[in-house]
Parts: sequence; C-alpha cells; structure tokens
Amino acid sequence: MSNQSVKTAEVAGRLRELRQMRRLSGTALLELMARNGVPISRVTLSHIETGRRALLNVDEVAAFAKALNVRVEWLINGEGVVCQTCQDVPPPGFVCLDCHRTAAEDDIELVTVNVED
Ligand SMILES: [Zn+2]
Repeated sequence: MSNQSVKTAEVAGRLRELRQMRRLSGTALLELMARNGVPISRVTLSHIETGRRALLNVDEVAAFAKALNVRVEWLINGEGVVCQTCQDVPPPGFVCLDCHRTAAEDDIELVTVNVED
C-alpha cells in the first residue's frame, strides 16, 4: 500500500482550501508536516498546492491529513466527512458543538501567508 500514489490534482484544491480555512501559514503547515515525519520543502508545498507536481505518495497525503486534522479519504476524494455542521473543519479558535473538533493546535501561529511569499 505504501507505494501507491495519489493524483495531486484531486487533492490540491481541498488542501489549499482547508489550509486557508484553518488560517494556517505555509510555514506552519511545513512545520506540522515535519512533525508528522514527512518533511517537505516550501517549493514542494507550492508545487503541490498549485498542482504542478503530478503525484503524491500516500505518506505525504497521510501527513497532510494529520496536519490538517481531517480524514485521508476526505483529502483524496471528498468522502468520509463525518460532521455536517462544520464539514470536519471548525473555524479557527472554535470547537464544533456537534463533533467537538477543534480547528488547529494551540501552538500554531494563526496567520495567513501565501506559500510563495
Ligand atoms: Zn463538527
């Protein structure tokens, strides 16, 4: 399973949208990726979010999902969203009353910055 890959085009839109909804800077996401054991460069993140890179491996997708606190299935195909109230993505600083998800970890700087700078 670990040598499977995922088409970036299917993931990039949700990934970018979700990062913006979470108000995660590119830097903060890169830090989370590194913490999840899949360090990637800023350029790589940019290429992924813009779909310039064609394929992601499952480890990268899993690390993105973990960093953004969503299911891998949702990142890949938009399925598996549990909560209809917040779509599994409560606004930053809020806890969803239905699923009790929180937006992001406390130690993440909640600043929106373009990946490209
Ligand atoms: Zn919810």
